[in-house]
Amino acid sequence: MKALFARHALLPEGWRRDVLLQWDDRGNLTAVQPNAVAASGISSVQYVMPGMINLHSHSFQRALGGLTEVAGDSKDSFWTWRDLMYRFARNITPEQMEAIAAQLFSECLRHGYTSVCEFHYVQRAPDGSMYPQASETAQKVIAAARHTGIGITMLPVLYSYSGFGEQPLKPEQARFRTDARDILKIIGELEPLRDAQIEVGVAPHSLRAASVAQIREVLDHLPKARPVHVHIAEQQGEVQQSLDFSGRRPVQYLYDQLPVDQRWCLVHATHLTGDEITSIARSCAVAGLCPTTEANLGDGIFPLEPFLAQGGRFGIGSDSHISQSAIEELRWLEYGQRLAQQRRNIAVSEQQRHVGDFLWQSALQGGAQACGRPVGALAPGKRADLIVLDDDHPNLDGLHDSELLGSLVFCGNDNLVRDVMVGGQWVVRGQKHVAQPAITARFKKTLAELRELRS
Ligand code: ZN
Repeated sequence: MKALFARHALLPEGWRRDVLLQWDDRGNLTAVQPNAVAASGISSVQYVMPGMINLHSHSFQRALGGLTEVAGDSKDSFWTWRDLMYRFARNITPEQMEAIAAQLFSECLRHGYTSVCEFHYVQRAPDGSMYPQASETAQKVIAAARHTGIGITMLPVLYSYSGFGEQPLKPEQARFRTDARDILKIIGELEPLRDAQIEVGVAPHSLRAASVAQIREVLDHLPKARPVHVHIAEQQGEVQQSLDFSGRRPVQYLYDQLPVDQRWCLVHATHLTGDEITSIARSCAVAGLCPTTEANLGDGIFPLEPFLAQGGRFGIGSDSHISQSAIEELRWLEYGQRLAQQRRNIAVSEQQRHVGDFLWQSALQGGAQACGRPVGALAPGKRADLIVLDDDHPNLDGLHDSELLGSLVFCGNDNLVRDVMVGGQWVVRGQKHVAQPAITARFKKTLAELRELRS
């Protein structure tokens, strides 16, 4: 029998005791029964939670982590970081992308993410030509997801321009170039790969890099309900460029031009007016928040409290992958708010006053919506994606259920994720990915190759 017995399990309605979880051969949960009796032959653990969804990833950037933390001139900004990232992206091969993604995904799994949304924009060969198979690099990232076991939503990126008003791409953006036809071709090639672990959506890079007419054309040809992700209002400079071009701010411009609904994920959405906050909340789109990357790049702070007050939905992503920890994203989401407002305990609702519980459950719901896959809850019909916490760790010892997530999210830096299951398969055991040595050896070899190119 495919089953696990949890003394404590986080269900959509909260922590429940003595929960029997069962799943089928395809890795879908078939029964989740609280107050059950532990039967012999079924393994029993203490604390089980749904795995987190990482709703925003550029996997190749994992290889850049820590290499951009040196001051250039006093104007170091997102835009100077981006120049470095472009140089890095110029020569990377599809095989290297796969090796980096596999390392990243194994790290994400070890820290409790069981799904990822890959915002994938390096799609052409280094000379700017399309690979014979247009989806070549996307397929390599999907192969890394399959190898590590993480569920993936692949989002090929529509990327045609270098700025508002259809400004031509710069030479260093040649590998990113796609138009609506290219994107539909790539998506068409990826369709046969869709299964319980793999979904395919689309990502117009931003309103800087894709025109409204192009986005409409792609959406017209995309099956309904597929996820649509877009970077938006990450930087003040982008807001100003949008005002100069259209007389409107980016979020306002997006909502005026396109039918944004719950299939959309607005990544960052950092700089918002009150009306823009209301538009996003009312549309039921998900705000894709990436607090560690937004802090690293000096983006700004998302207006979480007024957004939540209007029922806004959010999820978390690790974006540039300076952190692979869901805990760190959630912690910094709350801490940014506290620092800005000089107050405490901000991410809560009338019904849920425990910050850790509110953050984890909300990010599960928003992440599940954004990835377009049946994940994010321990409930029949969802994927059997779960994490088992380290019940030996003193931080969890003797706690009441209502205190567990407060301790997990806000106390200490030990990784308390001990085992991880995705689609009914154990992929992390005793804090180690089951294929870690080979994945890491290949990653180190790749880093050495890339270092040679840099020097
Ligand atoms: Zn991004």
